Amino acid sequence: MTSAADKEPLKTSNFLRQVIERDLEQGTYAQRKWAGRPADAAQHEQGQGDPAKIRTRFPPEPNGYLHVGHAKSICINFGLARDYNGVCHMRFDDTNPEKEDKEYVDSILDAVKWLGFSWDANGTEHLYHASDYFDFMYRAAEYLIEAGLAYVDEQSAEEMRHNRGDFGKPGTDSPYRSRSIDENLQRFRDMRDGKLDDGAAVLRAKIDMASPNINMRDPAIYRIRRATHHNTGDKWCIYPMYTYAHPIEDALENITHSLCTLEFEDQRPFYDWLLDALSEGGLTNKPHPRQYEFARLNLTYVITSKRKLKQLVDEGRVAGWDDPRMPTIVGLRRRGYTPESIQLFAERIGVTKSDSWIDYSTLEAALRDDLDPKAPRAMAVLDPVKLVITNWGEVMGSEDFLDACSAPVHPHNPELGRREFKFGNSLWIERTDYEEVPPKGYNRLYPGNKVRLKYGHVIVCKGATKDAAGNVTEVQAELVPDTKSGTPGSDAVKVKGVITWVAVADALKAEVRLYDRLFSVPQPDTTEKDFHEELNPDSLKVVAAYVEPSLASAKGDEKFQFERHGYFVADRKDHLSLPPNGGEGKPVFNRVAGMKDSWGK
Ligand code: ATP
Ligand code: MG
Repeated sequence: MTSAADKEPLKTSNFLRQVIERDLEQGTYAQRKWAGRPADAAQHEQGQGDPAKIRTRFPPEPNGYLHVGHAKSICINFGLARDYNGVCHMRFDDTNPEKEDKEYVDSILDAVKWLGFSWDANGTEHLYHASDYFDFMYRAAEYLIEAGLAYVDEQSAEEMRHNRGDFGKPGTDSPYRSRSIDENLQRFRDMRDGKLDDGAAVLRAKIDMASPNINMRDPAIYRIRRATHHNTGDKWCIYPMYTYAHPIEDALENITHSLCTLEFEDQRPFYDWLLDALSEGGLTNKPHPRQYEFARLNLTYVITSKRKLKQLVDEGRVAGWDDPRMPTIVGLRRRGYTPESIQLFAERIGVTKSDSWIDYSTLEAALRDDLDPKAPRAMAVLDPVKLVITNWGEVMGSEDFLDACSAPVHPHNPELGRREFKFGNSLWIERTDYEEVPPKGYNRLYPGNKVRLKYGHVIVCKGATKDAAGNVTEVQAELVPDTKSGTPGSDAVKVKGVITWVAVADALKAEVRLYDRLFSVPQPDTTEKDFHEELNPDSLKVVAAYVEPSLASAKGDEKFQFERHGYFVADRKDHLSLPPNGGEGKPVFNRVAGMKDSWGK
């Protein structure tokens, strides 16, 4: 069996691939050594030539569940490392002294593995924590002070903000900017030793208060914050700022290509300034990593902000992080998305340098292309109404007779075998497959019309019974003899309509969860409007359906194509297979995506 991913043209080039290919060609990083672990320049120098041709990293903050945007970043970072004989490091960016939540850490590692990637390279686990580098970061800060490249500023936060200037106005030097190296060193050690209050001082890089790039106007690199860190406990009361920590993490880990989203573009000059200083000073490896920015993923009808997704969970708007409507990786997984479909999606959306919105249907198309060649087929009736074959006993010799029918598990893969089910005197069909007065072009059941029940017989519709409110409660039809699918001469009777069905005798009752877009507007949370008001009130409809008996053994997480209806998955949490010898079961299927894109049509 080949999947759509295999048939996809070879990886499309993009600017990141071009940068990497150029670096490999020029041997930019060919001379660098690797200590076998993250290390400073001296330690790396003791090591062997770096066996990894390139090093990338995926550096989440462990403060929530990963979402589809992170999936893009994972596919890019791990995918490029895989394609160019490199290694991608899994790094927890835990420089903020917040409580690390094991739930988040575990879910992040699970998500990366589930997507099909690994941080293991020839037996070495490249799983790192940024907080392990605190000692080095401190040492690097003292180095900057000694090199005259950093100073302790004791202006108030208000003064600092004021003196930073703005886009039209250069900043003003702090009165502390000209302190001596010795005084700076002393004050920085006072900060470290807890002699100053939280917020009383910051260490700043000494660059250029008149720079047109505000990030270069002496950015803060260390702050005082008395907080217990999950890894280092109370050892530190000063913590590095993200913009200072991140380049150092990359440098210690020998990262070659540090890939991030566009909002960090303005930080690149500081990234280079800092690593130029540290590598020139012999503290970190040379040549140092380079930062490249790509467009973040914006997917229509969802939001991708960990904080807001958490709000939806906390407020009970969804049934948890793994609610199948959530754009989290656990949500997508429970919805029925496969790792292959997400990788295919990431490949198709590519890597660009300008922000845009990707239509949700692109994700669904990738899912269909992945599942179509491999998902077993099944019949399911989602909005059932009973169909009675009035001449069944007469034609078959007994009212109770059950006729054995079958269908291929997969139409293009006969080796997958056949599914068996019965045809009897009463069947379940879709309510929409009967019309008393057929609209133009309607080929399904209406009085006098002939229709084929797929894999079964041809019937001719006789009419229907209605309740007092006018709702159809039962449809009646007569069997047309000698029309059973697959028997000689069965196609002598021509019909225009074919419908799906299951027999009352052997169908299984199942709960089917029809999921739709979480938000009803294409670009939620982009206007003044509170995003809560943009939630789609009809994002979940639960129906009592009938499905064919081959689904009795379906296991949680197994995917199917329900003929005519689309792709469904047995819910990984709530689905309970039916035991073969009777007993309790609870089939629950989630709709992943419809048969084709029908959104907005
Ligand atoms: P959020 O804003 O949702 O909290 P984040 O950027 O703060 O996301 P991190 O844990 O810091 O989340 O991100 C880890 C990595 O994932 C970063 O390299 C970041 O650039 C990347 N990333 C996050 N969101 C997206 C997105 N929508 N598209 C592409 N990459 C993303
Ligand atoms: Mg973040």
